[in-house]
Amino acid sequence: MRDMTGPGNGGGRRKRQSPRSSSPRPGREVDRKLDQHETYEFGGPFGVLAIMLGFPTLMYYLWICLWFYDGQLVHPSSLDDIKPFLATMWTHIRQDAYPSRYAWQVYGGNILFQFFLAFTLPGYKQEGLPVPSLNYKTLTYNCNALYCLYATVVTAAVLHSTNIFRLTELIDNFGHLMSVGMICGFSISFGAYFFAIATGSQIRMSGNFLYDVFMGAILNPRIGSVDLKMWAEVRVPWVIVFFLAVSGGCKQYEELGYVTPNMAFMILATGLYLNACGKGEECIPQTWDMYHEKWGFMVIFWNFAGVPFSYIYSVVYMARTDPAKYQFSTLRYVLMFTVLLTAYYIFDTANSQKSRFKMQTQGINTFRTSFPQLPWGTIKNPTFIKTAHGNRLLTSGWWGYSRKPNYVADWVMSFCWGAIIGTATPIPYFYSVFFITVLVHRVGRDFERCSAKYGKDWERYCDTVKYKFIPGVF
Ligand code: NDP
Repeated sequence: MRDMTGPGNGGGRRKRQSPRSSSPRPGREVDRKLDQHETYEFGGPFGVLAIMLGFPTLMYYLWICLWFYDGQLVHPSSLDDIKPFLATMWTHIRQDAYPSRYAWQVYGGNILFQFFLAFTLPGYKQEGLPVPSLNYKTLTYNCNALYCLYATVVTAAVLHSTNIFRLTELIDNFGHLMSVGMICGFSISFGAYFFAIATGSQIRMSGNFLYDVFMGAILNPRIGSVDLKMWAEVRVPWVIVFFLAVSGGCKQYEELGYVTPNMAFMILATGLYLNACGKGEECIPQTWDMYHEKWGFMVIFWNFAGVPFSYIYSVVYMARTDPAKYQFSTLRYVLMFTVLLTAYYIFDTANSQKSRFKMQTQGINTFRTSFPQLPWGTIKNPTFIKTAHGNRLLTSGWWGYSRKPNYVADWVMSFCWGAIIGTATPIPYFYSVFFITVLVHRVGRDFERCSAKYGKDWERYCDTVKYKFIPGVF
C-alpha cells in the first residue's frame, strides 16, 4: 500500500494491526461523539412522521396507476372530484391489496425460509469493523447468502416445475404481497425499538419516540449467528425483487409464449444485484448501513416493503401491458444491456476495492473468491491518505476518480431499471428519482460525518480526490 499522507507518514508494507489498536485516542474521542445524538435529521419528528405515512401512501398510489390505469398518473380533475377519487383508490386497495391469506403464507413463508437458511447453512466468516460502542470489539458475520440464494433458486424451480407453487402467481398477487410487506415493515420497526429498550441495547437516542423508532435504537441486532440487519438487507428485498422479475417472465411465457427482451433484461438486472449482494456479502459489514445506521423504520421498512415493491415497477407494468407498447430496436437493446453491464462492473469492483482495502487495513489479506470475480476488484499497491484518526482513505482505483464511484454506478443501474420501458409510463423511473434523492442526502450525511471524524485529513482527501460523483463534472 502506498501512503499519500505527506510528511511523517511513510508508506510501505505495514504489520498486521490489531483492530482494537487501529483507533488512537483522538479517534476514539471523535467516535464517542459520533455515537451521541446531536441533531435531528430528516426534518426531525415531523419529517419522519411524514415519511412514515407518505411512503406507503405513495406506493399504493403508484401501484394503482400501474395496475389499473395503464401506468398513467391519475388524479382528480376538480376539487369536487377529490372525494370520489379517494373512494375509488380505497376500493382498489380494499379489493386488490388486502393482506390476503395467500400473501401471508407466501411472504411469511419466504421470510421464515430465508431465516432458516441463514441460521443453518455454513458460510464464510468475516470479521466486521471495530465497533466503537462495543469498545472496539469486532463482530463476526456468517456470510452464507450465496448458498442461501442457490438453495432458494433450486427450491423455487422445483416448486414451480412440480406445480406445487407457481411463480407466476407472485406478480398476480403484487398488491396483497405489498400490503403484507408493509405490515411486517411497521411491526418489526416498532418491535426492534421495544426490544432495544427492554434489553438496554439502545444507542444514539434522541429521546423522541417516533424519531427513535424511525432511526432505530439498536445497532447490531442478532439472533444466534444471524445479524438481523445484514440478513434483512440482503436476504429479504433483493430475493423478492428477483423473484417478482422471474414471475413476470413466467407470466409472459405462459401468456405470450415468449419472454420479451425487456423482461429478460429485468431478470438479468435483478439477478446480478441479488448475486452481487451474496457474492460480496463479506464486504457489507464495512458499509455505512452496517456500522453506522441503526435497525429502525428507515432501514427495516425499506428492506421489507420499499425496495421489493417500488424498485421494479417496470416488471409490474410489463406483466399487465401489451409488449408492443414498450418494444425497442435491436440497437437500443444492445445499448441498454451494454450500459447495464458496464455500470454493474463499476459498482461491483468499486465496492470490492474499498472493502478489500479496509480489510487489508485490518490485516486481512486473503479474500473470498465467489463467482464471478471481476478484474480490478482488488487494487495492488493502493495509494491512500493516513488520517490522524487512524483510518486510511483510499485514493486509487475507482476511488481516485471520484469520492462516490459506487453510488454513480448504482444509480445508472437504477435508471436502466426504468429506462427499459422507454417512455410508455413515467412510474418505473420512480426508483432512480427516489434513489438519487437518497444518495445525494446520504452523501451529505456521510461527508459531514467524515469531515467531523477526519477534520483536516478529510479536506486533504477532498483536495486529492476532487470530484464527488462524476470526474470532471461534479
Ligand atoms: P460507501 O460504501 O461509500 O461507504 C461510505 C463510508 O466509507 C464512509 O462513511 C467512510 O467511512 C468510508 N469511506 C469513504 N470514502 C472512503 C475512501 N476513499 N477510502 C476508505 N474509506 C472510505 O457507502 P454506503 O455504505 O452507503 O454504500 C455501499 C453500497 O451500497 C453503494 O454501492 C451504494 O450504492 C449501495 N446502496 C444501495 C442502496 C439501494 O437501495 N440500492 C441503498 C444504499 C446503499 P469510514 O471512514 O468511517 O470507514
